[in-house]
Amino acid sequence: MFEETLDPKDWEEQRKIGHQIIDDMIEHLKNIREKPVWQPIPLEIKDKMRKPIPKEHQKISAIYNDIREMIIPYTLGNTHPCFWGWVVGTGTLFGAYGDLIASALNQPSGGLEHIANYVEYQVIEWVKEMLAYDPQASGLITRGASMASLVGLTVARNLKTGYNVREKGLQSLNAKITYYCSTEGHSCLQKAVELLGIGSQNFRRIPVTEDFQINIEELKKAISKDKQNGYKPICIIGNLGTVNTGAVDDLTTLADIAKKHDMWFHIDGAFGALTKITPESYHLADGMELADSIAIDFHKWFHTNYAVGCVLVKSPKDHYNSFALVPEYLAHGTRGVGGPEIWYSDYGFELSGEFKTLKIWMTLKEHGIEKFGQLIEQNIQQAKYLTELIKKDDNLELLAPTAMNIVCFRFKKEGIDQEILNKLNEEIVLQLQEQGIAVPSHTRLNGNYAIRVSITNHRTKREDLKTFINAVKRIAKQIEATIL
Ligand SMILES: *Cc1c(COP(=O)(O)O)cnc(C)c1O
Repeated sequence: MFEETLDPKDWEEQRKIGHQIIDDMIEHLKNIREKPVWQPIPLEIKDKMRKPIPKEHQKISAIYNDIREMIIPYTLGNTHPCFWGWVVGTGTLFGAYGDLIASALNQPSGGLEHIANYVEYQVIEWVKEMLAYDPQASGLITRGASMASLVGLTVARNLKTGYNVREKGLQSLNAKITYYCSTEGHSCLQKAVELLGIGSQNFRRIPVTEDFQINIEELKKAISKDKQNGYKPICIIGNLGTVNTGAVDDLTTLADIAKKHDMWFHIDGAFGALTKITPESYHLADGMELADSIAIDFHKWFHTNYAVGCVLVKSPKDHYNSFALVPEYLAHGTRGVGGPEIWYSDYGFELSGEFKTLKIWMTLKEHGIEKFGQLIEQNIQQAKYLTELIKKDDNLELLAPTAMNIVCFRFKKEGIDQEILNKLNEEIVLQLQEQGIAVPSHTRLNGNYAIRVSITNHRTKREDLKTFINAVKRIAKQIEATIL
């Protein structure tokens, strides 16, 4: 009797395509600088993408031809040296090999006795060491900082609410609990607070100073006022690198306030936590060691191929108690495949995950930790350089202090009113992107449309930033000529 399988009928054909793919990816990354940073996806490609579910098998060579035509040219552009939008990492070729190996071996993380769990354990030990965080802390590898923060903020809720939230839910709450963060805190934090059943109205958004740091006096006032009004403040979230401007809150003072009120202190260090490993800018992360939990990303400034983040929790017991639930069919053994002591599924919501840590383990060995620190420092110095170019130019205006790797500025001209200036700068950003010159993103600061350059890119050179500034001015002049 013939029985089916998904294995290739022709292994040699698969081998040939596999080698071709590796060759193409090497060429793609080697020549990335020569390509447009980004290009719009043509309508015909979008149409071609919309097809009924395949019923017949297709030749893998035809599938790969589609990939060359429809997928490879229309990526986000974040592997290009002139991509500085949002906060997106560059990745590495060897990291991609890590994904290939992890995926071909098809290892689920989460539990059971197999080597992926030991790689994860090792990577978490390395993270604690490189961030100089408590060596006793527990950790979990996540998809990103959003999930990492959700984990940290869950432990905060379960511990500081003061009763068994896992059993009783928030139904038996007699005092409303409140979380605190600055107005610059990332949206994932509010989403986490909403998911936790606390409600966004109990997520206090504290105003910021001129430097976009949390206003400490306002925070103190908000906590006192809430206490007087019968709320139960349980968690402060500090920003170590805000997404808008890269601002860093006064983490040491936030830790003091949290301690005084018996609150949890979580840090969103998605990219900024990694300044700890730089040769010169490590002081930006002062106070990080005081956090009860920290969320970081590997796929941004650590250039690990998407998607990997990590949460560290100072108290392994509280971390475990927030998530562990072990039915008989998942019982942890001491022998055999059910074996190991640590199941990472006891430290987060998800059970199965991909073997995300192999690429981190591989690239750390490939380059060594110091190299990563130097590259982060290089980006910080490039941001300073860009800031100087802007300051020197009468037609450019800085819209926020450059605290780290993010520069917010705009094109300006005397006598043009605010609304038109906003439109003009928006048009500059769109044209830079659509012409494939560079990808900055934008934000609004005090009502002003800002061109936002966020450098988490190991391929960027200073020259690229100079060319970029010239392009901004050239495009601004062209727009001026047509609209003014
Ligand atoms: C990117 C980012 C997040 C969200 O992280 P993901 O990895 O995208 O989930 C949170 N906070 C800050 C400051 C970020 O830059």
